[in-house]
Formats: sequence, C-alpha cells, structure tokens
Amino acid sequence: MARHREKTNKLHVIPLGGLGEIGKNSMAVQYGDDIIVIDAGLSFPDEEMLGIDIVIPDFTYLLENREKVRALLITHGHEDHIGAVSYLLRNLPVPVYATRLTLGLIEGKLEEAGVPLPPGSQAVRAGDQVKLGPFTCEFIRVNHSIPDSCAIAVTTPVGTILHTGDFKFDQTPIDGEFTDYQRLTELGKKGVLALLADSTNAERPGYTPSERSVRPNLERVFRDARGRILMATFASNVHRIQQAISIAAELGKKVAVVGRSMENTVKIALELGYLHVPDGTILPVEELRRLPLQSQVILTTGSQGEPMSALSRMSVNDHKAVEIIPGDTVLFAATAIPGNEKSVARTVNNLYRRGAEVIYDRSAGVHVSGHASQEEQKLMINLTRPKFFVPIHGEYRMLLKHKQTAEACGVPPENILIGENGTIFEFTRNSAQIVGKVTSGQVLVDGLGVGDVGNIVLRDRRQLAQEGILVVVVAVDRETGIIVGGPDMVSRGFVYVRESEGLLEEAKERVRRTLAEQMDRNVPEWAVLKSSIRDVLSRYLYERTHRRPMILPIIVEV
Ligand SMILES: [Zn+2]
Ligand SMILES: [Zn+2]
Repeated sequence: MARHREKTNKLHVIPLGGLGEIGKNSMAVQYGDDIIVIDAGLSFPDEEMLGIDIVIPDFTYLLENREKVRALLITHGHEDHIGAVSYLLRNLPVPVYATRLTLGLIEGKLEEAGVPLPPGSQAVRAGDQVKLGPFTCEFIRVNHSIPDSCAIAVTTPVGTILHTGDFKFDQTPIDGEFTDYQRLTELGKKGVLALLADSTNAERPGYTPSERSVRPNLERVFRDARGRILMATFASNVHRIQQAISIAAELGKKVAVVGRSMENTVKIALELGYLHVPDGTILPVEELRRLPLQSQVILTTGSQGEPMSALSRMSVNDHKAVEIIPGDTVLFAATAIPGNEKSVARTVNNLYRRGAEVIYDRSAGVHVSGHASQEEQKLMINLTRPKFFVPIHGEYRMLLKHKQTAEACGVPPENILIGENGTIFEFTRNSAQIVGKVTSGQVLVDGLGVGDVGNIVLRDRRQLAQEGILVVVVAVDRETGIIVGGPDMVSRGFVYVRESEGLLEEAKERVRRTLAEQMDRNVPEWAVLKSSIRDVLSRYLYERTHRRPMILPIIVEV
C-alpha cells in the first residue's frame, strides 16, 4: 500500500517539444492518471527538409495515454505555441483553455483545418484559476510580443510548478497590461517547487527594451518618409501594429493591411478589442491607393523574406494589389530569425532594385525582442524563488546559459535540470530528477500528409534536388529475355540530354552489355537485373561526371 502511495506521489513534467530547439513548444504535466498539456506549437522546417511545410511535435505519448489527458492550456497565440493545436485536437479532442485573443487565434486555425473546438473549451482571463483533476491551473499575466500572454502556475499535490510561457518584463507595456509581479511574488512566498522558464534570450546580457522604445524611431520614419510607407512585421505583433496605426492616425495617414496572416490577426484583434483604431484609419487597399502617396501606409507580412509573403511578392512585382515604386519607404520592423537572413537580404535587394528606400538594420531601432534577457530572467527567478529550475524554450546552449544565470541567482547547480524533448522530469515535494524518456521527436507535415514523409522520402528528395534523376527504360521479351526496345534514357536535373549524347550512348551500351551478361547467366529475376543496371550505371556515370543521380531502371515485359 505504502508503495502504491509513493508511486502516485510523483509529478512528471514531460516536454514534447521546445527543449534543444526553438519552436514546437509543448509540455505534458502528469500526476498519476491525470495529464494536462501546456501549448502545442509548430516549428518551421530547416533547409534539408525539402518540401516540408511545418514540423509538429510527436504526440504519441499523449495519444497512448489519451484517457488521462484532461485539457490543453495555451500560454499565448504565437505559432510556436498554437501551430500544432489542430493536429493534436483532431486526434485528441480535449477542452482548450486560453485567454481571449489566444483562443480567438486558435479558433481561426481550427476552422481552417475543419476541426471543431472541443466542448468544454473556455476563454479565461489572466488571474483565473481552472481546476482539472488534481491540478489547479492559474493564468498569470506576463509581457510578450503578442497581447494576452500568460505564465501558467500549476498547483499539484506535491507543489506548485510555474511555466513562464514566453515572457519579458516590460515596465511600460503598450496596452498598459503589466506582468503580475504581485502574484509571482506571492507564489514565491508560498513556495514554488519548480520554475520552467523561457530561455530564448538567455545569451543576451542586460534587459530587453520596452516595446514602447520603438515608438520614437517609428515616428521619425513615418514623419520623414516622402512617399508611401510599407511596414513589415510579424503578423501577430499586435503591439507593433498598434503603434504603427496610432502614429499613422496622428500624422493624418491612412492604413491598409496586406497579407493573409496579418489581415487575420488584425481582424480578430479588432473584434476582440485588442487594437484601438480611430474610425476611418484602416481602409481596404483599393481605397488607400486613391489617396496621395504621403497619406498611404501599408502594413504587411514578409519581414522574414518568406517567398510567398506579400512583401516578397511586391519586391519582385508579383503582387496583385501593390506595386513598389521609387519613393516608397519600406521598413522592416523585425529582425531576421536565424536562418532567414538570406531571404531577408534577397527581399531587401529586390526592394532597392525597384527604387524603394529600405530601413532594415538593427540600428534603426524599430524592433525589440519579446523575450527576457538575462537580467529579466534573474528577476523571474528572484521573484519566484523556486526550489528547482528547468530551462525550457531554447537550443541547448541557451538552456545551458540559463542554467548559469540561475546559478548566479543562488539556485544550487544540483537543483537545475537540463533535459531534452521526451525527458521525464520527476518531482516530489523535495526532490527532482530525470527518470526516463517517452517517445518524442518531430512529425513532418507536407500538404495534407502528417508524418507520412520520413527519413527515406527526405533522402530521396535531397538526392533528386542535388543530383537529379536518370530513368532507364528497357523492353524485354518475357520468354527469351532478349531486349526488344530501348534502353531509353530520360534525364531530369542530371544532364541536358541533347548535349550529352555521347555520355548517354555509352551508358546505354553498358546497360545492353549488362543485360546480355545476366541473360547468359540465366538470371531473369527482374529485381536482380534492375540492381545490376543501377550499379553499372552509377559507377560509369560517377567516373565520367562525378555526379550521383538517382537511377531508376524500369523493365517492361512484352
Ligand atoms: Zn511567443
Ligand atoms: Zn515561443
């Protein structure tokens, strides 16, 4: 009996994404037969994942324990926290708890995916508590680059854990909604068993500036522009969008929003009252175009140079509503996420080519981060005084830096746990340790396929992309094994056939010879024939070209 009680007196915290990486944040919190999930985000594919649209966490553990999962709680409405919600709910329809804006954004996504919002889902306010089995979950306001962001405190039978979500401490937030310092302090006084904290900016010393610090710089750009202004920022950065709209209104300019994701966010934020826009300031782009150029402001997507985004299209004159003209001022109110620098640079070059003035570098002061720097991370630790500390949301080096920051604040090194996706962190009232691992990893989404593209398909795609393909077609008499047609060769992405006749003739000759030899030896096993064709050709082609195209032999029996 005692043994049984001991078993259930343990709390498991299991990150399914977001540790050792930036993105696809998701975490399971389990006590006995009850699980809650915090966030279900996506990440974007890296360059080797050819053709992949998005990457989501592997939710196997949740699906295998589906009868235990009570709810999905969301910290805020960024893609790396909500982007996999529709994929999770499609297979595991549990109630969702999130603040209003976050839930509004989730509903938009669900509608698009044709997944209903599970019954029992509920919009909460910062400060609300939700009781779920043995857990009492409290949403606590924090500042971030999207309104309505929360940390979530989960009080369990062994103690309270605090998941910060993404946060920064902004002393002058645009919407006047301050981080709930009092509540964080109270929790600290009552005792926080474990703090799970955002590590994104763990390498940055000092403080992240207030969103408000962007304003004078934005204002200067808006005032000095001789013609039209185009501002690109993250579609979800409602505060930045608010600042641009306020400045435009003060200067008597009108604003159009162009780009699907930003149009969506603005629509939802307006409906729910998160954006305050003087009447008549926002116009459809068709109406905006009739105004003098100095009165026009276009807010748009594409701050990361994403090829399909509105700004990228405008930069190559491929946008149906907006054409860049000399005299335009284009402002990147964002920094490039690592990995996106090249595509941003390409867009900047193209915009200059079309005669625009482009403001994109950090020195312009038109962007600040939404994540806490080291001094704010220290403040979070000092307010909440956790017994144990688990850095989350970050690549390994960021988690490690965050560990050092926590040590500097007096958290004993043995009380700091660094894990990876799938790690089972086990907590009791006075201990914490890593006790194992659950299935975790990345599930690739390509079009409508979820998880059907794996390593083998990706390897083929890489080979096709880098070396091309050579298809060899031979028609063989079923009875005699004699070649009656071909070999014919079709190249895609390997060599240009018309300029490589010599190479391909010799290749065909080798195929004929190989087939003849095989027939002599009486091996009419098609699979064997195909593989010998592949071997002979790949050796020959590599000798002649130093390339390794995919070779696809097709034997047609006649
Ligand atoms: Zn975020
Ligand atoms: Zn995030």
